Amino acid sequence: MNLLKLNNQDDRLDALKEAVKPFEDRAWKHDKEGTFPTENIKELQSIHYTALTVPEEYGGKNISLLELVKAQEIISKADGSTGLSVGWHMGIVKNLAETKAWPQQLYKEFCEKAVNDGALLNNTASETATGSPTRGGKPTTIAVKNGEDWLISGRKTFTTMAPVLDFFVVSAAIEGEDSVANFLISRESNGLSIEETWDSMSMRGTGSHDLVLDKVHVPANRLAAYLTPGDKAAAGWLLHIPACYLGIARAAKEYASSFALEYSPNSIEGTISELPNVRQKIGEMELKVMQSQHFLYSVASQWDNASETEQQAMKPELGAVKLSVVNDAISIVDLAMRLTGARSLSAKNPLQRYYRDVRAGLHNPPMDDMTIMLLASHTLSNSRT
Ligand SMILES: Cc1cc2nc3c(=O)[nH]c(=O)nc-3n(C[C@H](O)[C@H](O)[C@H](O)COP(=O)(O)OP(=O)(O)OC[C@H]3O[C@@H](n4cnc5c(N)ncnc54)[C@H](O)[C@@H]3O)c2cc1C
Repeated sequence: MNLLKLNNQDDRLDALKEAVKPFEDRAWKHDKEGTFPTENIKELQSIHYTALTVPEEYGGKNISLLELVKAQEIISKADGSTGLSVGWHMGIVKNLAETKAWPQQLYKEFCEKAVNDGALLNNTASETATGSPTRGGKPTTIAVKNGEDWLISGRKTFTTMAPVLDFFVVSAAIEGEDSVANFLISRESNGLSIEETWDSMSMRGTGSHDLVLDKVHVPANRLAAYLTPGDKAAAGWLLHIPACYLGIARAAKEYASSFALEYSPNSIEGTISELPNVRQKIGEMELKVMQSQHFLYSVASQWDNASETEQQAMKPELGAVKLSVVNDAISIVDLAMRLTGARSLSAKNPLQRYYRDVRAGLHNPPMDDMTIMLLASHTLSNSRT
């Protein structure tokens, strides 16, 4: 199967649904052992999923944001950790095509590697000192000029997909200047190592370890872009995040609904699916899934159809959809667990994993408090007489 050869979005999504079926079983082991689902990523590479957001001129499919969120939801329904992991790569590649933030040659070279070898990248922006980079903190990772090239030293936290990344997009402050830049650093570079620090209770299979850089030599042409810390540009690609948590919420809803149709305690005739208290929860879950889906798909397709200027005005919607979908995903998993009862707490029950995994969404960007403040400013600036 080669998704790049399928010209119809629905065919690609159907093929992806088939491909991710084994991920569900593997999720147990990786969650339990805190290991990275390398085999899932290899399978996504082998069907060329990881090249779908590459522009057509470089051999990809330039899929729309709407298709990307639908695809990410499918993967995350099977395994949230795999979905969030590959979602960063997919989204960043799409974002770079839209913003043209990198020199054309550098982006082209990476894209060709993504198409031909399944190369993967991710942004490593977070640090202990800055916390979430969205708050505007300056990296303590430092780039020192070395002739025409650079020597980069520092430590990055939360490097999702660290076990399989081919390239790390590392943000670093430039010594002696007030500027910060992203550098594209290859995994093979001397002085680069991964410290296996990821011990989170959520998204245990994302391999979000620390990246340690000790005077890593980076060629001059790998300075990919100058950055403004806490950049306020609208970022449609970040919708891969709510897509991930909606996928997990759907899995919880389906599990609880199937359980309701099967569970028949001897206090009643038939199954608990006929009881009003259970049907109430099923209806509430369905309502939240529907609301999330429509909000997410509508904002994604609005982005797809907007001009660049219109996209920049979409920050309030982009923040709102992430906040709404993630918080509803947490509520949906909660309802699914209440419906299922104490069995949901068993280590053998998938709901306890979904419960832990959806919490991570609160700590992916943009953060809820920033979104609420943005919505307040948006309202007040539109209300000014
Ligand atoms: C599963 C997962 C995967 C991730 N993958 C990646 C990745 O691939 N690459 C990457 O770079 N990062 C990644 N991250 C990191 C993520 O983007 C955040 O940097 C990280 O979660 C820390 O955010 P925080 O809000 O907890 O931390 P902090 O920013 O330290 O915030 C902690 C608390 O302090 C408050 N706070 C801190 N600063 C301010 C401020 N200036 N104003 C107001 N309140 C403030 C916050 O409200 C919060 O309550 C990942 C995180 C998770 C959970």
